[in-house]
Amino acid sequence: MSGSVNLINAARWLGRRGFDLSAILSLLLCLGMIVLWVRSYWVVERFELNHYEAAGNGYRSNEIHVWSSSGVLMIDGKQQSDWFPPKHQFMVDDFRRQHPRRWEYGWVRTDFTSIRLGQSGPPSVWTRLGFWLWRTASQARGRDSNSDYGAYVLALPHWCPLGMGMILPALRGRSWLKQWHLRRRARRGLCITCGYDLRATPARCPECGTAVPVGQGARVTP
Ligand SMILES: [Zn+2]
Repeated sequence: MSGSVNLINAARWLGRRGFDLSAILSLLLCLGMIVLWVRSYWVVERFELNHYEAAGNGYRSNEIHVWSSSGVLMIDGKQQSDWFPPKHQFMVDDFRRQHPRRWEYGWVRTDFTSIRLGQSGPPSVWTRLGFWLWRTASQARGRDSNSDYGAYVLALPHWCPLGMGMILPALRGRSWLKQWHLRRRARRGLCITCGYDLRATPARCPECGTAVPVGQGARVTP
């Protein structure tokens, strides 16, 4: 029986630690996002993660770019697959030479300024706020090649992921404040439930009936 109680306690402990860790990670990511947000008014930055794969008579590329500019984060992704008949095998070989590594990633400062979405997107309240979603897909079937193409653009203002990322740290901060408040009441010899002065009745609160744990109400400074 005590084994399962220990297990439950261990799970609770892990849960609390996991929550703390997530809150801290979340907070760090938010700090990074704030830096990116502030920088976005001076420089245009682009992060990219690409994946290339050539196999048999075809290849596939998958590219994700994240732009940060003027308070807007823009993610644009592109996926393309091509297949060729044997006589066009050189196209696949070229692709292999161009992308010797499967994974590529990078960060560049750029002067690409046309992602001011209020102008490039359709005019609406959403685009003015920095939200924008656009996607396209196409297929081409021909004698000399088959091709699938898909692309999307997702834009959102920095404050959007920042707000979502602050939920956990805010919850953690609130419970930390609450604990601090309770500990302070206990230290001052006050009831932890209602704040009533317990110096005259250290065992039980006469106001709300809360029993005081041994050792807590006793620390009274005259
Ligand atoms: Zn009380």
